[in-house]
Amino acid sequence: MDAQTGNDLLNLFQSKLNQAMRFYLETCTRCGTCTEACHVYASLGQKKYIAYYRHEIVRRLYKKYFKGRMNPSTFLGEPKELTDLTMEELYEAAYSCTGCRRCMVFCPYGIDTQMLMSIAKLLLVGNKSEPEILSMLADLSIEKGKSLEMFKEGFLTAIKNLESQVVEKWKSEAGQTPIPVDQQGADMLYVALAGAHSIVPAAAVFNAAKENWTLSFFEAVNFGAFLGDPSRTKLILDRIIKEATRLRVKEVCICECGTAFRVMKQLSGKQPFQVTSITEVHARYLKEGRIKLDKNKFKDPITYHDPCQIARNAGVIDEPRYILRHLTHDFREMIDDVRYNWCCGGGGGLVALGEDNLDFRMKSAKVKVDQVKKTGARILATACENCHTQLSNLNDHYQMGMNVQFLSSMIAEALVA
Ligand code: SF4
Ligand code: SF4
Repeated sequence: MDAQTGNDLLNLFQSKLNQAMRFYLETCTRCGTCTEACHVYASLGQKKYIAYYRHEIVRRLYKKYFKGRMNPSTFLGEPKELTDLTMEELYEAAYSCTGCRRCMVFCPYGIDTQMLMSIAKLLLVGNKSEPEILSMLADLSIEKGKSLEMFKEGFLTAIKNLESQVVEKWKSEAGQTPIPVDQQGADMLYVALAGAHSIVPAAAVFNAAKENWTLSFFEAVNFGAFLGDPSRTKLILDRIIKEATRLRVKEVCICECGTAFRVMKQLSGKQPFQVTSITEVHARYLKEGRIKLDKNKFKDPITYHDPCQIARNAGVIDEPRYILRHLTHDFREMIDDVRYNWCCGGGGGLVALGEDNLDFRMKSAKVKVDQVKKTGARILATACENCHTQLSNLNDHYQMGMNVQFLSSMIAEALVA
């Protein structure tokens, strides 16, 4: 690594050193309480996947270049040089961590591994050694924000083609557009993912609830957040903020995408609209009697996987359970306290890395498979695209024989007048 690159990377490191980050870097006592917390370590048994082993690399760099107020009696690691080999170690630590923050719940000091891995990820971006596919997808999202006019027509045609599928699920009122787009004066902006599965069921439920809504031109997923790149995260986020502000909506509802919801909820700052997840909105409709569900629609026992970024990291825990109580007579919890639930193993951008890391994703989530099997349920519902993909892959790989479903799709299927 040349001196200039090294300097640039250390400047990036420094840019992350706020009070919370210094606390995380200086406080770990290596007590080992988090040892069993990580699903990767629990599934594979390799030390490098223990949470504090992951952040030890970052901490040793910090000790070398930024010193801090580390207590020598608790800090055992040696200062570490920033070299090409260190960058490889940072990659291995950061891109085998899903950012689920289960380890944080176990740590007596609440040390946030996801935050510490965000230093590793930013250094990888600075070194141009981040995963190319994530970088490309982030840039594409930003480009789309800059040249909306170019893709508008194609988008509107694609949406028009989905309308009949919406009407099949829920008949529209006279004069109503099944999928409204770009509606000034709408109360709610719905931000979906690319694909009918994220738009059609949601539209049917909004229409059934007589919501005054409009669909966003942009997809919810934030690849900048997966990359740990604050600038690109913000640019991707800003597209939606600008659209919501222009349309003067009161609410921005994020589809079933954990990271998109958490980023929008926690990083969009003070705005004239509230941010909700679609699961919260569906629970609200049920509470207000705006939709009704057929509780006999699904005969098989159902369990629910809480997406880490929606449940543990954003507190949406009661809402899916409220919905499930209206959806089935046989709901089976995976765990008593959801905060300790196992991650599915697909977050943090790992699913988007595709086939290259499929083997790792399957092996590192064995504990999740065992947890799901133990419920005896036949339907595995969830409310996040990444989790759904990962759980479907696990279902195939381990021949679990489950029916993996999006919670929102089940709601749309069970709608009754
Ligand atoms: S539980 Fe917290 S303090 Fe203990 S080793 Fe893990 S990160 Fe460090
Ligand atoms: S955040 Fe999740 S994946 Fe990362 S070290 Fe902690 S438990 Fe493991």
